[in-house]
Amino acid sequence: MPEWPEMEHYREMLDVRIANKRVTAVQVERERSLNMSIPEFTARVEGQQVIGVGRRAKMLLITLESNEVLLLHLMLGGWIFYGQVNEKPERTIQVQLSFGEQQLYFIGLRLGYLHLFTPVQLSERLSELGPDPFEPALSLSTFKVLLERGRGTLKKQLTDQSIIAGIGNFYSDEICHAARILPSRTPSSLTLEEWSSLYESMHGTLIEASQAGGYMDQAFYNGDSLTGSYNHMCRVYDREGELCHRCGQIIVRNTVSSKKSFHCPQCQR
Ligand SMILES: [Zn+2]
Repeated sequence: MPEWPEMEHYREMLDVRIANKRVTAVQVERERSLNMSIPEFTARVEGQQVIGVGRRAKMLLITLESNEVLLLHLMLGGWIFYGQVNEKPERTIQVQLSFGEQQLYFIGLRLGYLHLFTPVQLSERLSELGPDPFEPALSLSTFKVLLERGRGTLKKQLTDQSIIAGIGNFYSDEICHAARILPSRTPSSLTLEEWSSLYESMHGTLIEASQAGGYMDQAFYNGDSLTGSYNHMCRVYDREGELCHRCGQIIVRNTVSSKKSFHCPQCQR
């Protein structure tokens, strides 16, 4: 499932393309991807100008001039593509928003969805989320306090969206590897030095991955060579049996807090 870096990368690419553009047509093939009927969705979205594209946690927020917001959650298997009709990927499209000649295709939205919310509904929908990893209020000391709540492992706490929003199974392992800490550790066992390392690794890993285009391997537009480049840079995730880039030890897979997890048994403690 795409996490902070993938969605932030999508947000940047999408915002420069559709901000201030008008939705000229709406086509929906799968009503279940929406939170209302197709005619109602079309009536409320078609003709609207896009104010801008934001992101919260693993979701994209497309604000319309009506102040209503399209919330996109790709979940597992979802992706988006932007281009002309003749560039359309050979895949089933669930929703298509037209911006004149340019089309925004929503693909693989089986678990994922595109919901339209009023501002009040949106704030209710997002009310359970913890802070963004880069929110200024999330200082090192607040980070420590939040993660120390509850008794879970680092893996469990880092992926809990009500604690910090935007990190999932993939980047929790990458962050722990960067910090040289095992994901199975409990927050209460961390030294002050390790807290500082974990906090810096969270920022460093997410920014690096986002600038590398995240790990989603489908191009966002024709000629897009950046999206998915982090796939070749990742340190531990899905690298069981391969060598650690830092120390040469073999990467191990195990289960931490019922989640698939990868670590280096030599340079992570
Ligand atoms: Zn290692």
